[in-house]
Amino acid sequence: MTEIFMPTAEVLRSRNEAAEREFHERASQAARSRFGKKVFVRAVVEISNYCRQNCHYCGMRRSNRGLSRFRAHHEQLAELLIHHRPASVTDVNIQAGEDPVAVREVALPLIRALSRETNLGISVCLGSLSPALYAELKQAGASLNILKFEIADPSRYAEMEAPGKLEQRLENIRHLAATGWYVSSGFIAGLPGETDQDLLANFALARELPLGGCSVSPFIPGEETPLATAEGGDMTLTLNCMAALRLIRPDWVIPSVSALNLAEPGSGYRRGLRTGANLVTINLTPSEIRGDYLLYKRDRFIMTEERILTAIAAEGLTPSIQSLSDFYRSKKVNGSHAAPAKRRAKAALQIS
Ligand code: SAM
Repeated sequence: MTEIFMPTAEVLRSRNEAAEREFHERASQAARSRFGKKVFVRAVVEISNYCRQNCHYCGMRRSNRGLSRFRAHHEQLAELLIHHRPASVTDVNIQAGEDPVAVREVALPLIRALSRETNLGISVCLGSLSPALYAELKQAGASLNILKFEIADPSRYAEMEAPGKLEQRLENIRHLAATGWYVSSGFIAGLPGETDQDLLANFALARELPLGGCSVSPFIPGEETPLATAEGGDMTLTLNCMAALRLIRPDWVIPSVSALNLAEPGSGYRRGLRTGANLVTINLTPSEIRGDYLLYKRDRFIMTEERILTAIAAEGLTPSIQSLSDFYRSKKVNGSHAAPAKRRAKAALQIS
């Protein structure tokens, strides 16, 4: 029987370059034997920076009164995604602060238009919502829900005022999986005061949730947050966590997150791809609103199609033709396997 990999704190916090290289290489091999050289390319559009939550680490927290708030126009985003998206994009992720108004007024009409007019796989990352609103999003055509558990330890979760209550967040993840969504989750590595036990709890939790993918982001001290002067989570810790996730679940979709570029400008993304990541993101948020989508810093390193394709090619990889949502549909994930016949036929024709 194959033993299930579980990392130790020593491995995750290792600073031994040779051991690290070997560990990352193992993770990369695990990804390649499952996914070959293919990397999924998803666009993200950030539709609102209103947020009813107050996460200490995030610049869009409701207590940040200095931030000017926006909601995007769904017509503008639909025009962009239907007629002007980069050719390599197979999926789109619609992301926002936790803002049910934007879900109704922007996300839902946008998803309906994209489902009607394109073959794009549709992901959403919109936070903790009611079962009815999740059902509407799915009915409109979204199939993948990204809901990060953020911090696995309940007392640390409460201390950081992470969204709502951890128990409810986990309940939402289980509810989504049980109602036919493909679910991806994730956590932040290197938050101030994080103990070895806190760090390890993230892996134990990720492993027991019904997920098709998982991410890890380095903590970036966010401008205009209570943690602005704290020390950031570092690149090595984040990459070690990514490698561990890959070895725990070789079949997961694991993104190279944009925060890697802030932790190590220019090369962070490529190092993520070298450590077993198989999903990259092109940011298509219109430039006039992008600046106020303040997760970490106003000075963002925006991943354009050119940067993404260069990073993929430089690592000897290729963009997947199959969309992420067709990939999930073709597999049994979250314990369910429901695909409308039309979509299934389309997926079968696409050879990635
Ligand atoms: N509001 C939605 C939700 O709660 O799922 C959407 C996601 S939220 C706008 C964006 C994500 O950015 C969070 O899930 C969090 O993991 C990450 N994030 C925010 N601030 C961060 C920071 N300072 N360092 C690292 N990750 C951060």
